[in-house]
Amino acid sequence: MVDIGTAQADIGVIGGSGFYSFLDDVTEIQVKTPYGAPSDSLFLGELAGRRIAFLPRHGRTHTVPPHRINYRANLWALRSVGVRQVLGPCAVGGLQPAYGPGTLLVPDQLVDRTKSRPQTFFDGEPLPDGTVPDVVHATFADPYCPAGRTAVVAAARGRGWEPVDGGTMVVIEGPRFSTRAESRWHAAQGWSVVGMTGHPEAVLARELGLCYTSISLVTDLDAGAETGEGVSHDEVLRVFAENVGRLREVLFDTVKALPEPADADCLCRHAYDGQDPGIALP
Ligand SMILES: [Zn+2]
Repeated sequence: MVDIGTAQADIGVIGGSGFYSFLDDVTEIQVKTPYGAPSDSLFLGELAGRRIAFLPRHGRTHTVPPHRINYRANLWALRSVGVRQVLGPCAVGGLQPAYGPGTLLVPDQLVDRTKSRPQTFFDGEPLPDGTVPDVVHATFADPYCPAGRTAVVAAARGRGWEPVDGGTMVVIEGPRFSTRAESRWHAAQGWSVVGMTGHPEAVLARELGLCYTSISLVTDLDAGAETGEGVSHDEVLRVFAENVGRLREVLFDTVKALPEPADADCLCRHAYDGQDPGIALP
């Protein structure tokens, strides 16, 4: 276990490469994990007086597609440098006409429609050190950190960017976008936004006892939403670039408001109450 006093960072940010340029005194470190290499180096630095580890989710040159991201290595690497709270900014498609491009949504629920991704540390396989984790079942009814969600919502309001407080993110396998029929189906369920990376990022964080908060920026109306014309990657990039400045401001204020490591005690830390995970967390 990483002692809080010796940890190199206490807040992790997994996001696009537009984010780490605003950290102060950045140190790049490579972290090895039992699950292989993370998407990239960790970039350690300070923001709003807090110690941050930034990890570019798709690699710094955006070469790792959503279904090939080594989510287990990413979360393990963050935990191993001391991180206990993770913020996951991401681009999503809006499934409801009210959630057009530029909407900031802080989901409180998640639906997994991914297909091929390892989504647990407890898969019965021995770790390289020979230990075999027990079968455990993490509590996941509320997949996101309540303290993190509160901090993001307050930060966005403070910057005059009224967020959607709650909603369901459906995570698809990608890398293709949805068909119109899939998109209509997702919308008809009442789900709010669709993305490609929110799962298994959230559940793996939970399995490691990490707080995880998704910060979802709507970059397009998904194919089936009333006025949508189908999603193009160019459109996603354009809207993301337009909003990256204020997203950074929200991240800055969120980081400042997150509980100090010793004070944080939320449901995220109790996923295994009554069970022995049988795994030595880094
Ligand atoms: Zn939490």
